[in-house]
Amino acid sequence: MIAPLETCHIQPVTVAMPFLLGEVNMYLYDGGGTLTLFDAAVPTEEAWQVLQKTLAARGAAVRDIGRVVLTHHHFDHTGLAGRVVDESGAELCGHPELPLQAGLSYTFDDAHNAWLATLLEGLGTPSDLVASMLERRPLQKPFVHRVDRLDRTLPDGTHLDGFRVVHVPGHSPTDTLFVHETDGFSITGDHILEHITPNPIMRRPPPGQDRIKSLVQYEESLVRCRAVELGWCFPGHGKPFADHRHVVDRILSRHQDRNRRILAWPPGTGATPYETARHLYPRMGVEVLFFCVSVALGQLELLESQGMLTSSAEEGVLRYFPVTARG
Ligand SMILES: [Zn+2]
Repeated sequence: MIAPLETCHIQPVTVAMPFLLGEVNMYLYDGGGTLTLFDAAVPTEEAWQVLQKTLAARGAAVRDIGRVVLTHHHFDHTGLAGRVVDESGAELCGHPELPLQAGLSYTFDDAHNAWLATLLEGLGTPSDLVASMLERRPLQKPFVHRVDRLDRTLPDGTHLDGFRVVHVPGHSPTDTLFVHETDGFSITGDHILEHITPNPIMRRPPPGQDRIKSLVQYEESLVRCRAVELGWCFPGHGKPFADHRHVVDRILSRHQDRNRRILAWPPGTGATPYETARHLYPRMGVEVLFFCVSVALGQLELLESQGMLTSSAEEGVLRYFPVTARG
């Protein structure tokens, strides 16, 4: 039996995201003796005001927050972390790799742009599209307040204030579930969302390491997540939901649908990840180019890991082929 929602000691603080991208949740939790803020949304004045008002309505203020816990390093979940910590002295906690991965994701220098250009062109993306995508990148910069340090790291399997820490890399490499051990609820970040399919994007690897196949990794984590009793899930976006296995199964079946669309299509001469993205998203514009190519590459890597496709680089560009076409 799942506990009634009202007994979870959790209060959502929901704020708008920039670029009309919908809303993002922070959560206040006071069940463990320390007033804790899970996630820190975006660094807008509006988000700050909403947080202050929500705290005031319960007779508290930002200075009363004793701990900030992050579900992952994406910019729409860390924006106010620094400001809250500066004002309250709160302990900042998260996945041990969070500062490293934030640095790898949110760097705007020439070296990062060169890495992105090489990656995308190697996946078959025309260079004029890569150039216009890179021109747009600085638009994101004012909204990125990345976390460069933590006061406390939270390895997989450790415990914090009644929660068990469960790492579920995939959507991002730092995705973490906080599973309350007695009260029947979990803080689940963006690992699973009820009405959105979280899509792992391509990631820059740490120096000397290979790029992770993020959709393959995500599916492994979904299987792990399915086996955990989460109770009520408080997600990074959208309302709380109870049946997390149903949500996991919907995401996995979405991946299978895309797999079928790709397998029914690729010509015997092979397809690049960019061409596959065009097939999946015929109207894709430059503002979603990185996202769409990420989805396509993820599906192709998944199909290759399942033995359905094979890949080879020809003149520096990666192509995927049906296994039968090449014998
Ligand atoms: Zn998010």
